[in-house]
Amino acid sequence: MSTLLAEHRPVARKDHRCNDCEGVIVTGTEYLRQTCAYDGHLCTYKEHPWCQSVYWMLHREAGLCEDEAVDPESVREVFAVLFAWMAGGL
Ligand SMILES: [Zn+2]
Repeated sequence: MSTLLAEHRPVARKDHRCNDCEGVIVTGTEYLRQTCAYDGHLCTYKEHPWCQSVYWMLHREAGLCEDEAVDPESVREVFAVLFAWMAGGL
């Protein structure tokens, strides 16, 4: 089980990779940074604010418990559909 140790919303001083959508968190934009303990290891999780919103929407829709995680592929599928719709492909 993962334990959240710290959560911040810093402004990116360099480009980062979003752990949800795998897109770029561009330098100068705000992002969510979480430090967690998992199986005795520290891990850092970075994501766009909108990806966090989609993550928790999917979490609620799936009826998951607080310690259960959404499959990251589900978040990427939501954005793939959104981007296709925005491009007029749907
Ligand atoms: Zn993202």
